[in-house]
Amino acid sequence: MIPPQIFSQINDKCSEGLALALASDEDGAIMEFQWCNKAFSKITGYAASEAIGQRGTILIGADMEQGVHLYIIEKLMKWENFSTKTLNNRKNGETYWQRMSWTHLSDPETGDHWWLCSIIELEDDRPEPATIDAKDLAASDHESFVRAVEQVHLLEKENARLHQLARSVAKDANEDALTGLSNRRHFEVELKTWIENLKKHGTEFAVLYIDLDRFKFVNDSLGHDAGDRLLVSVADMLRDLTDTSDLVARLGGDEFVILKPLGDTALNISSLADEIVKRTQTPFTCDGKSAACSASVGVAIAKTKMDNPQQVVTDADEALYHAKSQGKGRWSFFTEEMHAKSIATKQLSSDLLLACERREFIPYFQPLIDATTGRISSAEMLVRWDHPTRGILAPAAFLETAANMGILKRIDEIIFASLSEALAYLDEANIDLPRVAVNVSAGRLADPSFIHDIRSSGIDPARLTIEILESVYLDRMGDVVRWTIDELDELGVTIALDDFGTGHASVSGLLEIRPDILKIDRHFIQPIFDEASATPLVESIISIGKGLGMLVVAEGVETEEHARLLREMGCDYLQGFYFGRPMSKEDLRAMLIETEGQFWPQQSADSESGNIRALGQAV
Ligand code: C2E
Ligand code: CA
Ligand code: CA
Repeated sequence: MIPPQIFSQINDKCSEGLALALASDEDGAIMEFQWCNKAFSKITGYAASEAIGQRGTILIGADMEQGVHLYIIEKLMKWENFSTKTLNNRKNGETYWQRMSWTHLSDPETGDHWWLCSIIELEDDRPEPATIDAKDLAASDHESFVRAVEQVHLLEKENARLHQLARSVAKDANEDALTGLSNRRHFEVELKTWIENLKKHGTEFAVLYIDLDRFKFVNDSLGHDAGDRLLVSVADMLRDLTDTSDLVARLGGDEFVILKPLGDTALNISSLADEIVKRTQTPFTCDGKSAACSASVGVAIAKTKMDNPQQVVTDADEALYHAKSQGKGRWSFFTEEMHAKSIATKQLSSDLLLACERREFIPYFQPLIDATTGRISSAEMLVRWDHPTRGILAPAAFLETAANMGILKRIDEIIFASLSEALAYLDEANIDLPRVAVNVSAGRLADPSFIHDIRSSGIDPARLTIEILESVYLDRMGDVVRWTIDELDELGVTIALDDFGTGHASVSGLLEIRPDILKIDRHFIQPIFDEASATPLVESIISIGKGLGMLVVAEGVETEEHARLLREMGCDYLQGFYFGRPMSKEDLRAMLIETEGQFWPQQSADSESGNIRALGQAV
């Protein structure tokens, strides 16, 4: 630790100009001065208060040779230390000779990159320009004179080329190549400046975070060229709607952001957001084909009274998230309520991490009934969070957050580890429970240790069903997932395709996975008495499944009428509140003992005719 008294003497007494600049993580040529000593101010003409917060480019004077300029940018971009002797200008334009050296420093704790810039003023030691006396120029020297002039022209040309290159390097570093808007790097540097101005001068501003709603769809359906053209047209539209004092940037992909000074009224901000949403409502046309691609916008205001104005971009992002969740193609202002929600999500996230550590997840079980015999044929294991203060929580309270955090796999692992013991406990009821079904997330399916865990669990694979979501399969069909599915097959584990009908490409998913069991999603089952279209739909799903040699399960069977009709339609297994809600292993064991495994009367010739009657009444 250097004593501050010594440090202040570097500031006062050192004759070498010194400055420290914090560089952007990605590009060494982008930096902001954070400190300089007095000699630095004396040489460059920038007082500390003027230099701090400014970019490194203030040290590139108008009279600096373009070749040198390019050299400096290149070296900085590559994080290479260097030293150069060059003509430069002070703040007031006066030229002087200097030796400028740059040293790259990095902070191992924060990972921040810094530059130490040192400047020494040199005596003007340029050689006197050679004067050519025409009289002395003998005829024999004429040729070499012409050559020299040509040489000068060549050098000038080269100089101009370097000048152009230097300009384009500087521009490329800040510009998004496709749209010509500012890129993320430049946006980040600018945002810092806007926040500094907010703090210093109270210039409040709005952040509009824009995201296209169906960009992926346009890309997939019309091709990447069309996708690029769409981005360019959005960029043009944003340029058209904004003023020169606004900053418009493309952050990457289909995300754009606008910084706009607030001025006197927030009204111009909301009309800008309105206009962006309105203009993107018109379908985008490319080569005669068109696709709808609306935009959603999140708006937040950076205010002087904010403790942490950096937060404003996250706020706008939260507002955007809200706009999307409200149905897309709209905009939202960030509100404290959203903030509270995001704090709640953060709290939930950290609680979930703790819950994983403490293994607070427990299995619940819901019976599946054989439609013909009426006996229990399986039990689906459904996770519950045994929360220390909030009691038993259903997946809806935490699964989405866990998925966003990427810890679903961990939860599946914890739950699976408890299965063997739970099964042994259920078997003590002495009732035959042929199978248990386990839900697995995409992450777990792609986890090579999953198969190992099944093998070492001691559970008979023939007693195990793995339920996978068709969307999981379609999204994540990597080699490991394929391998896992093949291994499961090899082991003799039954594979069920869950929530059939809710994925995007149901039948192709079905053909790819070739599951043993097909579970029809409860949203198709529940309306079979109320909606005329539901019954034929369920009938055709059943016939697809049967045609492919699969067993069919109906989920969400809530009433006896449901159960009868579905049995009649040919479902092999039935699951739903009518037979039992998801329950603890203790409750299931008690129920097994009480019913002796018979959850519903066996189908008889009698009840069959009863069913037909029931069907007749229903239709
Ligand atoms: P799922 O796999 O489709 O599970 C069936 C869900 O439907 C369960 O909700 C169950 O309580 C509910 N359900 C069953 N019968 C009826 C009925 O007759 N009427 C109605 N309205 N609902 C019924 P739960 O337990 O809240 O689970 C929700 C979802 O969470 C599950 O849907 C599954 O996708 C996921 N999940 C549950 N446990 C796990 C797990 O251990 N791992 C993973 N990765 N996901 C799980
Ligand atoms: Ca399931
Ligand atoms: Ca399901």
